[in-house]
Amino acid sequence: MRNSFSCKGDLLITHWGFSGPGVLKLSSIAARELYGAKYKFKLIIQWSKLSYSDLSEKLNQLRQFNGKSNLYNTRPLPYLTKRLWIFLLNKMNIDKDKKWAEIISKEKEIMIKFLMNDEYQITNKGPFGDEFVTSGGVDLSQVSFKTMESFICKGLYLSGEILDVDGITGGFNFQHCWTSGWLAGVAIANSLR
Ligand SMILES: Cc1cc2nc3c(=O)[nH]c(=O)nc-3n(C[C@H](O)[C@H](O)[C@H](O)COP(=O)(O)OP(=O)(O)OC[C@H]3O[C@@H](n4cnc5c(N)ncnc54)[C@H](O)[C@@H]3O)c2cc1C
Repeated sequence: MRNSFSCKGDLLITHWGFSGPGVLKLSSIAARELYGAKYKFKLIIQWSKLSYSDLSEKLNQLRQFNGKSNLYNTRPLPYLTKRLWIFLLNKMNIDKDKKWAEIISKEKEIMIKFLMNDEYQITNKGPFGDEFVTSGGVDLSQVSFKTMESFICKGLYLSGEILDVDGITGGFNFQHCWTSGWLAGVAIANSLR
């Protein structure tokens, strides 16, 4: 069983935790393992695609050209909102009121480490109660894709979430449910003729 998963995507930070396309996709990819771990796991967020040396260069430029600006006023990555940047600075134990010019090398290293590898301990899943799709179900090898009839039990037709299909949301689950339902319906009607 794999013990680490990764994915790229937009992140939504809500008052109750992380969500958004990136999180939904990741929780879908790792559905079985997360269930096995009772949804207690470590989440690592890479806030930037930039390499270590590019981030280092970016921070050097801020020290050089925005030296008089407070840390909280000038963000190294424009898409980090001010509130999030201040949250991260607090998490890094770096004084947000410091000027960029006052940053020492150790603090610069901490910033790079956090921007590339920011760790969170996840303790539970979101408040929806149900996952967007139920991972697992009847093995696909046991079903005819032309009619959705079970190979094991003749006259039994299966469609939708009862099958082991996980469409990583974005409408793929709906599409699978509608299509397999239509196929099963047509096949049942034909079998009754
Ligand atoms: C919060 C949430 C958000 C989602 N968002 C998306 C999305 O954005 N895009 C996407 O593609 N998918 C999404 N999904 C997944 C998608 O909704 C499901 O995959 C899909 O609805 C499953 O369809 P289904 O017909 O297989 O099952 P269901 O829609 O669950 O239908 C099963 C039906 O059977 C009925 N039933 C159960 N037991 C019995 C019984 N004993 N007798 C008679 N009737 C019974 C139930 O009441 C229900 O009406 C989302 C799911 C959730 C929970």
